[in-house]
Amino acid sequence: MKTIWNQTCRIPRRNELPGNLDTEVAIIGGGLAGILLAFYLAQEGKQAVVLEASSIGSGQTKGTTAKITSQHNLIYQKLLTDFGESALNTYARSNEQAIREYKRLIAARSISCCFETKPAFLYTMKHPDAIHMEAMAARSAGIPATEVTDTELPFAVKRALCFPEQASFHPLKFLEALCSTLTVFENTPVLSVKDHTLITPHGRVTANKIVFACHYPFPLVPGYYSFRMYQEQSYVLALDHVPELKGMYLGTDPDGLSLRSAGKYLLFGGQNCRTGHPNPAPYDTLSSLARSFFPQSQAVSHWSAQDCMTLDSLPFIGPFSRKKPDWYVATGFGKWGMTFSMISAHIITGLICQKKLPWKNIYSPLRFRLRPAAPRLASHCAESSMGLLKGLGPNIMRCPHMGCRLSWNSADSTWDCPCHGSRFDRLGHLIAGPAQTSCRPHKLIP
Ligand SMILES: Cc1cc2nc3c(=O)[nH]c(=O)nc-3n(C[C@H](O)[C@H](O)[C@H](O)COP(=O)(O)OP(=O)(O)OC[C@H]3O[C@@H](n4cnc5c(N)ncnc54)[C@H](O)[C@@H]3O)c2cc1C
Repeated sequence: MKTIWNQTCRIPRRNELPGNLDTEVAIIGGGLAGILLAFYLAQEGKQAVVLEASSIGSGQTKGTTAKITSQHNLIYQKLLTDFGESALNTYARSNEQAIREYKRLIAARSISCCFETKPAFLYTMKHPDAIHMEAMAARSAGIPATEVTDTELPFAVKRALCFPEQASFHPLKFLEALCSTLTVFENTPVLSVKDHTLITPHGRVTANKIVFACHYPFPLVPGYYSFRMYQEQSYVLALDHVPELKGMYLGTDPDGLSLRSAGKYLLFGGQNCRTGHPNPAPYDTLSSLARSFFPQSQAVSHWSAQDCMTLDSLPFIGPFSRKKPDWYVATGFGKWGMTFSMISAHIITGLICQKKLPWKNIYSPLRFRLRPAAPRLASHCAESSMGLLKGLGPNIMRCPHMGCRLSWNSADSTWDCPCHGSRFDRLGHLIAGPAQTSCRPHKLIP
């Protein structure tokens, strides 16, 4: 899938794993999370190798809108209610610190990646009270958030919430600079992991520590991540002939839009839905909205991407499972993987190097709290059971991960799994996990 990022940056290709290898740390996945982690481990003198199934940044990172922000939709009010003041403060501090660390790192290394400091806004056309509550929660966590009713958007909003000093960048140019000194093997999918050994088609890697930074950790057990996460898709248009927006915007209403300028283009996103759910014409809907707000606009490219959503809305960063003391995971970023990849890199580097860390507990994958997870748990169980049941029928496309029936996504011409979000092209070739293999082509291909 062509996005404005991979159309404007070609990261030099790396060789595949040349044979068996021993290392201190093996990182599965060369997206933003895996590359940032490898970079900070190298800073600590650790020998780390990244094993990437395809190419660096070719996963969800190439489809991001790359807002680097601590403003994550209506999260602060939810955190206060579900987890309390201490978790709220930790969330705000860790994400704000991640923004500052990007700024520091990019300046210190003179990385040319279109990094810009700009404000981020949440807006609503329906529920100004929700924005006000979010503003109060964010302010109580130390974020200098302000409420406004006038914005530069081409439509009226009821209320908006501004976080100052946020940022945006070109994610692939950033990765290209960061990975230049790292050991990365491309076209090296990890097929299975057993204790300290990773099996790939080109050889086995033995590592003291193993990190799953592969977007969706694929082992079914331990960890049981398939029962604790689902995936959500969003669609994006890159528009030309549009005025530049000084801020970055996200609508909090169910049909809210994401808008942010990237050079001469405007990234115009929305149409969120659970992966595998029918979404009849997401690009057409976005195009007609774009034309209504920006009559001169012209879509120069379009794409979709997806991210892992945890049931309690906090990511899973840290130990993989009590049963695997040397495995770690970074996932469940809920569409906020720019700051969470940075936070993951710091937490997992700290854990591997046995450093003290102020904010690892709220993100620990070992947590279990039913109340914050309950609403999403019910619908995730219902969706997964339905997908599995439908997978029992004859003559259907079935996901190799757990056997759920795949749905046809006519907008992208892909087969998508409504249970856990694996995606396949029209011939059944794997695009995104948790499935690790392609599925059998079937005569019912449309
Ligand atoms: C439409 C959209 C817009 C978004 N916009 C923003 C935003 O503005 N700001 C923000 O903070 N976040 C945003 N996000 C979220 C963000 O893009 C993701 O959270 C982030 O890119 C995830 O990075 P990652 O490294 O975890 O995953 P990926 O980039 O998917 O990297 C994982 C890598 O692992 C590899 N892999 C998978 N399985 C294996 C295996 N078995 N062996 C070896 N390698 C393997 C894959 O090939 C892939 O390259 C957005 C998400 C979406 C869907």
